[in-house]
Amino acid sequence: MSKLANIDWNNLGFSYIKTDYRYVSIWKDGKWDDGKLTEDNTLTISEASTALHYGQQCFEGLKAYRTKDGKIQLFRPDENAKRMKKSCDRLLMPEVPVEKFIDACMQVVKANSHFVPPYESGATLYLRPFVIGVGDNIGVKAAPEYIFSVFCVPVGPYFKNGLAPVNFITSDYDRAAPYGTGAAKVGGNYAASLLSHEKAAEKGFSDCIYLDPATHTKIEEVGSANFFGITKDNKFITPKSPSILPSITKYSLMHIAKEYLGLEVEEADVPIDNMDIFSETGACGTAAVITPIGGIQHQGNLHVFYSETEVGPVTKKLYETLCGIQFGDVEAPEGWIYEVK
Ligand SMILES: *Cc1c(COP(=O)(O)O)cnc(C)c1O
Repeated sequence: MSKLANIDWNNLGFSYIKTDYRYVSIWKDGKWDDGKLTEDNTLTISEASTALHYGQQCFEGLKAYRTKDGKIQLFRPDENAKRMKKSCDRLLMPEVPVEKFIDACMQVVKANSHFVPPYESGATLYLRPFVIGVGDNIGVKAAPEYIFSVFCVPVGPYFKNGLAPVNFITSDYDRAAPYGTGAAKVGGNYAASLLSHEKAAEKGFSDCIYLDPATHTKIEEVGSANFFGITKDNKFITPKSPSILPSITKYSLMHIAKEYLGLEVEEADVPIDNMDIFSETGACGTAAVITPIGGIQHQGNLHVFYSETEVGPVTKKLYETLCGIQFGDVEAPEGWIYEVK
């Protein structure tokens, strides 16, 4: 293992730290250039860039993990690459080929390997790939040029004291329209979620629950994470809708629930008036892996699931198995792990 950067690995949060290298590639005249690493962490773009005015941009989030024996690995980067292609298609931006995306991530991790936290810390190196529309353009149309970039930031484990449940409240706002951009990882969805998050936080909740935008009767997303529940008869259920962002963590948990824990797994509607069927629920995504849901407040009533203070046994097992796979302690399904050499 090469010498690590001078960082207090055990006290990392989730905030920006300038690392040494980032990858930048430019799309111009119908094609991507080869891309290169740079030490410059600023971008200079036209004031008339579509990313600034019309929200023509998308992003991804994935992590590099240090294993017990000091190796570095990525978790399912091909899935992030495929999802980013879909986001680009939805916003009429040029796709980044899967191989180019994975190669960019590999280059960034390799060049910043001294920022990949040690195994014992539980911390990881978070990668942020993104595509933005740039160039001189004032009308509402696709940009003439694009930038694809990947930077990285070491981040702490989301929960320092283990898995602690938090409470959520349903929102009157929507983060996406039924056939809008909810399934694409685009900044506009996040801009639309800031106010609803703020209102939930003011009332003392961790974040809000978004209901389906058409009828407001079914659970869709938990803040910027996907929802899952374990029913009292031990089924893993997660909602299905065209306005949900397809979480790679969620699909990985579905596989683990079925293949490692032997649970039945189903994508189905989750009516907000039928929370009684669940013994445990959680939110999932790359940043926090799993956030156990203590309770959900809806129309003035707080429905508590397993406990407001303790994580349920199935949620705990799902969390431990997924983290075990990501850090190389549990055997991974074929194709999930990409070693950075
Ligand atoms: C990124 C994201 C998620 C989580 O997806 P992962 O692939 O698991 O990180 C869930 N919901 C929204 C809205 C997101 O943007």
